[in-house]
Amino acid sequence: NSSGWTAEDSLEELKQLADTAGAEVVARFLQKRPKPDPAFFIGRGKVQELALYVQQENVDLCIFDDELSPAQQRNIEQSMGVRVLDRTALILDIFAQRAHTNEGKLQVELAQLQYTLPRIMGKGLALSRLGGGIGTRGPGETKLEVDRRRIRDRIAYIKECIGKVKSVRTLHRAGRAKASVPTVSLVGYTNAGKSTLLNTLTNSDIYAQDQLFATLDPTTRQLDLPNKQQAILTDTVGFIQRLPHQLVAAFQSTLEEVVQSDVLLHVIDVSHELYKEQAAAVYQVLDELGAKDKTIITVYNKIDKLPPDSGLAERLSKEENSICISAKARYNLDGLLALIAENLKLKAVEESFLVP
Ligand code: GDP
Repeated sequence: NSSGWTAEDSLEELKQLADTAGAEVVARFLQKRPKPDPAFFIGRGKVQELALYVQQENVDLCIFDDELSPAQQRNIEQSMGVRVLDRTALILDIFAQRAHTNEGKLQVELAQLQYTLPRIMGKGLALSRLGGGIGTRGPGETKLEVDRRRIRDRIAYIKECIGKVKSVRTLHRAGRAKASVPTVSLVGYTNAGKSTLLNTLTNSDIYAQDQLFATLDPTTRQLDLPNKQQAILTDTVGFIQRLPHQLVAAFQSTLEEVVQSDVLLHVIDVSHELYKEQAAAVYQVLDELGAKDKTIITVYNKIDKLPPDSGLAERLSKEENSICISAKARYNLDGLLALIAENLKLKAVEESFLVP
């Protein structure tokens, strides 16, 4: 775990994720152990305690905040008589519900299949025991009902499709580069306000909701900057601590947009208690993508939610290349546009030195 997150914080976030997926959370349990039980992850006494609770309260789903091995997942399911998911499966489910474009659907299905593959026991065993509901939904729902070999074939096929989409995108990008339209990408923790900012900056109407991962597929809009300058603004998938690695891999081509951008806007929800930890989680993903050294403007958002006497906004705006705004209350947006224009200008100057 990245420093600063307590197990309780992480569990609170898991609850939000479960809400987003449409589950009603009736109870949370936390167990501190020196190390996980190899067969059950949690202690065996705890398993019994939970099994009893599950029966009494008619619970039909149990979600673990940590990644379970396929065997652990199976053992717990058998002992408790209830469906068991881990954090990764839950996040995959949310992504599955939210993928709208062809490419988004393909990427989520790829991640789901890669997650599922090691979880199928023996040759030719169907996955139907999972039943319907959370963790089994998605573009690949009916397709998940196939055996390993067919899953592997499907993975290969999807990779091929994604590769084709990717080459089309590369062409578009090359076109834009030729027309020398600079590109700006929004990055940030999920729920930081990226979609809201894209909407307000480009006067468009994109789904913004107080739920995790409202944005899945990349959205691109034209951005008008001061002095008739123009840029392309792209919203990307929200980041989260411990983003399943299958997803980072699956979204590589979408996230490439980030890597290729001229400037990144890192949107941070300063009204969140753990905003520093969230920002660190974002930097970690950027690092994985090889985008940490890009030009990054730190956009402290939701400044309207801070108590007026906190002094936080004053402190934060002194940081280098950062700005305090409210996307919702439309506060300081002109300042942000000017800062973007300034960064693009600097970048253009730098590049003119690089090109002989
Ligand atoms: P995303 O996941 O980063 O795209 O976040 P969204 O744009 O969907 O916003 C998440 C929630 O925060 C929504 O309920 C927005 O209305 C809210 N929000 C976004 N910006 C602001 C802001 O500046 N102030 C306040 N108070 N709420 C905001």
